[in-house]
Amino acid sequence: METVRTIEETRREVRAAKADGKSVGFVPTMGALHEGHLSLMRAGRQETDFLVISVFVNPKQFNDPKDLKAYPRELKADAEKANGVGVDLIFAPSDAEMYPKGAVTFVDQHRLTERWEGAHRPGHFRGVLTVVAKLFNIIEPDIAYFGRKDFQQAAIIKTMAADLNMSVEIKVLPTVREPDGLAMSSRNVHLSEDERKQALCLFRALSRGREMVEAGERDTGKIVTEMKQFIDGNPLARIDYVAIADPDRLEKREQVEPGDVALVAVRIGKTRLIDNMILLKER
Ligand code: AMP
Repeated sequence: METVRTIEETRREVRAAKADGKSVGFVPTMGALHEGHLSLMRAGRQETDFLVISVFVNPKQFNDPKDLKAYPRELKADAEKANGVGVDLIFAPSDAEMYPKGAVTFVDQHRLTERWEGAHRPGHFRGVLTVVAKLFNIIEPDIAYFGRKDFQQAAIIKTMAADLNMSVEIKVLPTVREPDGLAMSSRNVHLSEDERKQALCLFRALSRGREMVEAGERDTGKIVTEMKQFIDGNPLARIDYVAIADPDRLEKREQVEPGDVALVAVRIGKTRLIDNMILLKER
């Protein structure tokens, strides 16, 4: 496994693999790799011949400079973990390599980006879409892997790939959780012992929502109210949003329908966490 810093080298390596007839898998990450990231890499390892990951803390998707500064960076440990699951190439560019001075083109999207995460983090999805489009152009993967943990991001990227006729297949894989249910996240390292306990309220509230649906409740107002009350029972928790939406356009629902998803964003102390759960299986 090799770690390369430049776009030119990355292109050379990927093109050499393609010239050998190999299919290319790609997992974009911001590093601080955990089992969630590794599950995407294992899928890529199984399904494609040449597996590339990127490790790039993308400044353009951070709307809060403090969040960007505090984001964990640990490339050496990341490289060891990636090597352990059989990654072929890590692309770890500098900010200047990805965003040379003078660039004036961005990728943006209407509708889906305006709700939930988009409403709370202005400019975030424009940063995500732009960097993912650039990475797709650099690596030209056959299959790219994303986590359902970032449900709205996955929906937005699928939409971009379809709208812009990108020749990449987007695969979205299940959320990997800690044994108690907390969704794995690079941001979990910021949680104090007390915060770590209360961070479980996201998963518990989602599970409670699903239990209500399983018991026959369909009124999203009632379910959301109960989920919010549950989260508010944790003194360190501040809710950004709790919502129930359809899984494609992420529009708010009045009555739960098959496939619908509950989305939560909660600040636990200074750490902002998101999670989601499908409430009712599709028939
Ligand atoms: P990040 O490094 O946080 O930008 O995440 C890189 C990719 O890993 C994204 O597609 C995320 O959705 C995915 N990911 C992050 N956490 C998890 C998790 N707990 N389970 C599955 N995928 C995840």
